[in-house]
Amino acid sequence: MNRFLIPVSALFFSALVNAEKKGQPNILFLLSDDQRWDSQGCFGNKTVKTPEIDRLAAEGVRFSNSFITFSVSSASRAVILTGIYSRSRSNGADDLPAICTPENWENTFPALLKKNGYYTGYIGKWDIGVGEDGFQHGVDLFNYWGGDRWHGNYWHEKDCNFVTNDGIAHKKEIRCTCVTGNAWDASLPRTGNQSMKNPLHTDTEVVPLKVKTFLESRDKQKPFFLQVSFRSPKDPWSDYPTEVKDYYTDDSIAISPTANLQNALSQPEFLQKSMAANHARNLLSTKGLLENEIRKHYRLVTGIDIAIGKLRKILAEQGIEDNTIIVFASDNGAFLGEHGFWGKWLPYEESMRVPLIIYDPRIKKESGGKTVDEMVLNVDYAPTFLAFAGIKTPRYMHGMDIGKLMANKKSCWRTDWYYEHSWSAKSLGSTVTPIVPSEAVRTKEWKYILFPNQQVEQLFNIKNDPFETVDLIANPSNKKMLEKLRGRMNYYRKLYEKK
Ligand SMILES: [Zn+2]
Repeated sequence: MNRFLIPVSALFFSALVNAEKKGQPNILFLLSDDQRWDSQGCFGNKTVKTPEIDRLAAEGVRFSNSFITFSVSSASRAVILTGIYSRSRSNGADDLPAICTPENWENTFPALLKKNGYYTGYIGKWDIGVGEDGFQHGVDLFNYWGGDRWHGNYWHEKDCNFVTNDGIAHKKEIRCTCVTGNAWDASLPRTGNQSMKNPLHTDTEVVPLKVKTFLESRDKQKPFFLQVSFRSPKDPWSDYPTEVKDYYTDDSIAISPTANLQNALSQPEFLQKSMAANHARNLLSTKGLLENEIRKHYRLVTGIDIAIGKLRKILAEQGIEDNTIIVFASDNGAFLGEHGFWGKWLPYEESMRVPLIIYDPRIKKESGGKTVDEMVLNVDYAPTFLAFAGIKTPRYMHGMDIGKLMANKKSCWRTDWYYEHSWSAKSLGSTVTPIVPSEAVRTKEWKYILFPNQQVEQLFNIKNDPFETVDLIANPSNKKMLEKLRGRMNYYRKLYEKK
């Protein structure tokens, strides 16, 4: 081989790669906690005030059929981080440590972004991997770390180490040092700020502070990836920011047609006994209780909205708003009393359907205000972030690049997908009512559900019955569809099984 040709072609190739890398955008990923798809104005909610989220949708792309594949925070967060179904880690077993721990941390999208020239940062709730070990894996994964242990607290003192930690040199020691701070052994987050001297709200005050620190201290020669995991709108719902305390007090609150006692008591008995269902039934038993809870929930959502407004202002001040993609999503949904359920976990729309908005300022003119109806999943986020950075989806990832849908480049997209929830919460001890494990296959029109421990199946036509009120499993005219969906579930179980 001609010795001279090799370096020339290598140089040419490396020049191409460098030119491409110059075009790598910054990525700001905003992930909320337990936020369902319809709790913001741009997804049809007429009460909750979310002007900043609505503006993001008006300038970006709104995904009307966005779902998560496993409806509990730590599981969904591990799916997002890895781009891989939980089943591939747990084999469908009731094994939370396996479900929420990446099989190889070097294969996660932040590791790949870092390897490909990105400066990376993380702020907020982490909840991936097991205990302190999982937390420290997170610390090592990112250049800047502002992550919090377990769910974190809504309020911190101004001088709390979680607030003042530099995120770089001392990031390993980051810890809430407030008087009643939440350590690993605390079973519940601290509620309220009554005994605090200078309380700051995590989402509306601490997050913007930390984002500013991240942007100012970063390596400005590199594009950045920053994930902000909001504490909101997860319970305790009474911990909304002070500035929204008077919101919604006098507003009438619309509730779902399935949020009533009659529907709750029509559910199979094993579901009526599942985790938090008694709480929902209590709220449904007295007029006005549910509405009051929803008011608090909406205040937390508006708190996120205020934070997003502050973050966009910071991006503009730094002069990087035109080259920073903003992605807004949630780790899972939340029931507001529908079918007599509370929390999430179960395979119904309120639990598995989440908001997704992607704002890419580089294509604002062409795509601003667009709605995409294709079914997108949390397992798609990792391939999408990598694609924004010019990195091909690794073969081991299960998701697809959502950016193709924004640019109208898609040749084919999924027509169905698999949902799993193999964690029963029995590991939390006997005082906790267990979750009922479930699986599902969702198409645009149909949903087939299996509760494997009870061997109970359900079938809903989502198109005609979006609130999932009529179980068609015994209807003979749907036999063919049922057979097809059972087959698809078997197909996905095999496809995602632990190799
Ligand atoms: Zn603190």
